[in-house]
Amino acid sequence: MSKTWAIINKILPFSCVDGPGNRLVIFLQGCNFNCLNCHNPYTISLCQNCGECVHNCPHSALSFENGKTVWQANLCQQCDNCIKTCENQSTPMTYRYSVDDILSVIRKYLPFLTGITLSGGEATLQLPFIQQLFTQIKNAPDLNQLTCLIDSNGYLAVQGWQKVASVMDGAMIDLKAWDTALHKYLTGRDNQRVKDSIRYLASINQLHEVRLLLIPQQSDLHNKAAEIAEFLNSLPEKPNIRINAFHAHGVVGLAKHWQSATQQDVERFASELQKQGLNQITLPSVYLV
Ligand code: SF4
Ligand code: SF4
Repeated sequence: MSKTWAIINKILPFSCVDGPGNRLVIFLQGCNFNCLNCHNPYTISLCQNCGECVHNCPHSALSFENGKTVWQANLCQQCDNCIKTCENQSTPMTYRYSVDDILSVIRKYLPFLTGITLSGGEATLQLPFIQQLFTQIKNAPDLNQLTCLIDSNGYLAVQGWQKVASVMDGAMIDLKAWDTALHKYLTGRDNQRVKDSIRYLASINQLHEVRLLLIPQQSDLHNKAAEIAEFLNSLPEKPNIRINAFHAHGVVGLAKHWQSATQQDVERFASELQKQGLNQITLPSVYLV
């Protein structure tokens, strides 16, 4: 029995894009980046219980009790009024799940699953929960065939990765810009720890994938193919790379005016990386331009 719990935004019982095979994905609430291009900015902060959204719920699914905003999922019509009201980049529509609760959910879908992926927000902000959950999965005879992956912005310190290394099977890490100052502009944080995470995970054979998001005229990745390739080629093994194409659809704020990446942009960048000897590259299956 584990009483460790997490604040969860959403659970997706089946996904084939968050790691190999068919995966149950748990999106944890809260992030330590503040990306200009975030498609889900309401996942960035934990609810501050300010109560502002309560009166904007047209379906009485929200109430304010004992200083806390309470959400009743059974009354909610998913109109998103509360998210639009919130000025704290949050949502009242989160769940508090213990490790045991999540194990029950996993068992419900078990016959169809290859593994579990923890995503976000930034999953590693709730590291004790991940540590407990993955430990329980690895120790349970009916679950230990499931692979345990983390989808991360890479900002976790090496000491943090060391806490989960023995119970996870790998991590997918986003590298959002090569230049440190540009990375800080795009995400609010510099990228030194992201590069350290990539190096460390590769050194222990737990770097499942490096994800490169192409944002024309904003990110520098497409201009830095040689530097990125030199970095990735210096790892003990050539990593799997996934190139993601930025699309402005659904983005709020400044980035909604940014140019989306085309198939041509992505293929040109992939070809630059291939010329430098990086061949395990996955491209987007659809382009929303
Ligand atoms: S999405 Fe938010 S505002 Fe809309 S019904 Fe649900 S709780 Fe209420
Ligand atoms: S979701 Fe936002 S507006 Fe609603 S109570 Fe929480 S912090 Fe306040």
